[in-house]
Amino acid sequence: MEIVVLRLGHRLERDKRITTHVGLVARALGASGMILASEDKGVERSIKEVTRRWGGDFFVQTDVKWREALKKWKKEGGKVCHLTMYGENILDVIEEIKKEAKKDKARIMVVVGAEKVPYDVFEAADWNIALSNQPHSEIAALALFLDYLQQGKELKTKFEHAKREIVPKRRGKEVRIRE
Ligand code: SAM
Repeated sequence: MEIVVLRLGHRLERDKRITTHVGLVARALGASGMILASEDKGVERSIKEVTRRWGGDFFVQTDVKWREALKKWKKEGGKVCHLTMYGENILDVIEEIKKEAKKDKARIMVVVGAEKVPYDVFEAADWNIALSNQPHSEIAALALFLDYLQQGKELKTKFEHAKREIVPKRRGKEVRIRE
């Protein structure tokens, strides 16, 4: 299954840190890449630097025309999961989404917003999904969704060609470094 995150409404400066964290969570928890509707080379650079050190081939694309990207994704058979507190509760739709995700070459785009999300996203989405119907954060919503979708398997992902790799320890810290 391929998972790509579409981050909407990123405001320069104000959302820098949150959008970087959206990208880091996406990378760490099994997505292949993040598409950003605005141009922010700083965010792109930070995430790419983490990927360079910690491995994998997570991609970041900025300044993407998101309406076109959504349309193309759907035209090519991909499904769209928009995370919003107004949506259906994850517990009521996760089995349906997992069924879709098990299909051969399944592609899931996960959309998260910042400020008000345009209504056409609600219409274009195959599922509008609430991770509880209470307001919180795109970072938390994304992490929860990726975990429900992959049933925890993403937590043991191995990252290829990593220069840094943590050796898990009950106490203390050990990092294997390959330069
Ligand atoms: N006030 C904005 C609105 O309602 O259009 C949303 C602000 S919220 C901080 C930013 C993003 O976090 C949302 O677009 C959504 O993707 C995500 N989010 C926040 N709470 C959520 C929830 N309970 N379930 C799913 N996604 C959520």
